[in-house]
Amino acid sequence: MNIKALNGFKDILPGEVELWQRLEGLARDIFARFNFSEIRLPILEKTDLFTRAIGEATDIVEKEMYTFVDKQVTMRPEATASLLRAYIEHGLHVQKPVQRLFTIGPMFRHERPQKGRLRQFHQMDVEVLGSTSPRIDAEMMAMGAMLLAEMGLSVSLEMNSLGCPVCRPGFRVSLLAFLDDRHQALCDDCKRRSVTNPLRVLDCKNPRCREQVLEAPSLLDHLCGDCADHFSGVQKGLEQLGVRYSLNKFMVRGLDYYTRTTFEFITGDLGAQAAVGAGGRYDGLIEQLGGPSVPGIGFALGMERLVLLLQQKEAELPVSGVDLFVAALGTQSTHFGFALAHGLRTSGMRVAMDLEGRSLKGQMKLAGRLGAPHVLILGENELAEGKAVLRNMATQQQQEIVLQDEAATVQILIKIISL
Ligand code: ATP
Ligand code: MG
Repeated sequence: MNIKALNGFKDILPGEVELWQRLEGLARDIFARFNFSEIRLPILEKTDLFTRAIGEATDIVEKEMYTFVDKQVTMRPEATASLLRAYIEHGLHVQKPVQRLFTIGPMFRHERPQKGRLRQFHQMDVEVLGSTSPRIDAEMMAMGAMLLAEMGLSVSLEMNSLGCPVCRPGFRVSLLAFLDDRHQALCDDCKRRSVTNPLRVLDCKNPRCREQVLEAPSLLDHLCGDCADHFSGVQKGLEQLGVRYSLNKFMVRGLDYYTRTTFEFITGDLGAQAAVGAGGRYDGLIEQLGGPSVPGIGFALGMERLVLLLQQKEAELPVSGVDLFVAALGTQSTHFGFALAHGLRTSGMRVAMDLEGRSLKGQMKLAGRLGAPHVLILGENELAEGKAVLRNMATQQQQEIVLQDEAATVQILIKIISL
């Protein structure tokens, strides 16, 4: 029997997982600076939630969802819909007028697996519910930019406004008129989209379609007064916070729920999979899902793509998961070392030890591979004399440790190693 992981599903192994942890740790730190609370959500939801929230005529709902037809349930393809479902279900708007929430976890989309595109992938998702202030939009983008900058990644920010139910219909009419003349030149998907969801034609990846829409009208020229004011407020906020951005009139995003501000964080270093994160405002969605009339905005960062960028940046990972390696030789030493390692771990030290009776050379090699900065060598003769040797692996210097009872030895080692 030779069972492998499903195509598009990936294990994250030790050696790589450290990068994920760092990414997650930094994200949690930054989300806390901006006063976000974590929310953890189920992976499986009723299919209706996603068809209603994301929209029937979107790539996700049309062809990417993992749906179990017999039960009418779907593995979440993104987090916003689930988060809003929880927000509504638990009346979170009553607890706080403005909720700042984040969630981190796997999402599922049945698409063609390739570099930076998987069927189970991971997102860090942040949402602010309950504010229409353009400063919130600016702050969200600034927070995303801060996280990417602190990861050492250089990523650019692109932004657009999709207007609202007041101004979008007018734009749709002028876009339809524009597409009408070019219908024959569009790809098959876009021929269909120009009827079901014409805005999506604007961000088709097909080069022929791209060329056709170069001169397409821009939503930014059709915004109503309120949307135009809001958008200029967002731009002012970004300028005040020193966040650089560019306008992209083709960005419509692949979900139907967006209104006003939409944005993407783009990299030039991942080929076709250029978006590392994306989001926008969805002022009507909560109400549409049966909740109160509360506006919202959010974005999600794709963790696989961020990890790929980090891997490209750092060929050699600075991983050291241990503070001390205990190398014991012989039965007595192993007996003593076994308890000592436990005592050190109880006191908070990260300790590795070989329990397979390897030679000193083998154990030193292992300590090197683990990146242990210190090795405590417990030899049989030394132990009999109540002594051991502590080697600093960076300087190769050794010092003698006088062994006392276990508790005292723990204290001595902690003092020396944390110096
Ligand atoms: P793309 O245009 O690359 O398909 P998307 O618009 O479908 O992205 P969103 O739904 O906005 O993506 O999700 C936000 C982020 O999640 C993306 O910017 C990307 O980094 C990541 N992401 C989306 N789909 C996948 C996937 N199948 N595999 C890995 N990461 C993904
Ligand atoms: Mg997609």
